[in-house]
Amino acid sequence: MFRLTKARYKNKIRILCYHGFSMINEEQCVPGLFIKPDIFDGRMKYLTENGYNVISLEEAYIAATTNKIEDNSVVITIDDGFYSTYSEALPILKKYNLPSTLYLTSYYFDRNCPIFTLAVNYMFWNSKKDKFDLSILDIDGLGIVHAGTTQCEESIVKISETGQAFKNNEGRINLLEKLGQATGQPYQDINESRILNLITEAELKECIQHKMEIELHTHRHIFPLDPQEATAEIEKNKNRVNALLKTPMSHFCYPSGDWSSDHWPILDQQNVKTSTTCDNGLVSSETPLHAWSRFLDSARISKIEYESELSGFTECLRNMRGK
Ligand SMILES: [Zn+2]
Repeated sequence: MFRLTKARYKNKIRILCYHGFSMINEEQCVPGLFIKPDIFDGRMKYLTENGYNVISLEEAYIAATTNKIEDNSVVITIDDGFYSTYSEALPILKKYNLPSTLYLTSYYFDRNCPIFTLAVNYMFWNSKKDKFDLSILDIDGLGIVHAGTTQCEESIVKISETGQAFKNNEGRINLLEKLGQATGQPYQDINESRILNLITEAELKECIQHKMEIELHTHRHIFPLDPQEATAEIEKNKNRVNALLKTPMSHFCYPSGDWSSDHWPILDQQNVKTSTTCDNGLVSSETPLHAWSRFLDSARISKIEYESELSGFTECLRNMRGK
């Protein structure tokens, strides 16, 4: 079924996007953000056994700008820099000898704590309790709530917003420690498991040695439209990471896929060569360099959906619908 479209779309680049690799049950909590390592292994195996030409992002950039895209080119990108990029994905990428790109956000990089908002959601989701006494958190209006209710959902939002507004990270850790008590999900256990933590400097260095390029994803995982604020996000990201790299960061990934062409002059000024989005689609020499689309692979995607996307069959359907 896919052979015809594979031939028709062979001169387009497929960019795959991953986030975290599940170490316990994270892919059940946030299916769109995690994938099980054995599934990821199967995906990489499929690429090598079906004639896909896995290239680095830099090679894709050169190919697209010189109009020399080789048949069935694929780029593997990983966003954020979860610890599992190192512990789960890297051994698989090494096994198949595949190049990849990690878009590293730097605020939680080499910091011994989980990403705050993910940890809040995970504690509630993974809890066995049917009601929570949130008065321990000392947040106005929060008391006893029952699991799965609207009131509980509203409390999760309020806790997330309260923590995000804190000026320092110690406040957030303190809040997570209290929430760990309220949900029966000890903070220390979640932190030690590192399921929601980012990699360390030492781990990053090991990734680089095994064909992983490290690229820009902003410092705090936000990219405002205000040019000064956006520039500061890129510069902080560069300042934190560039010194550890052989080649300075020069490719970018929009955090949360939020992008606008108003961002493009800022990216040009920062000498960014390409910027990837979370929009679906294949990339050609005509695709604007700051709007390279990708395919988000995760626990939500079935084997057939993955193979269909790679073959160009899904792109063919998208084009037909667009007409
Ligand atoms: Zn991200």
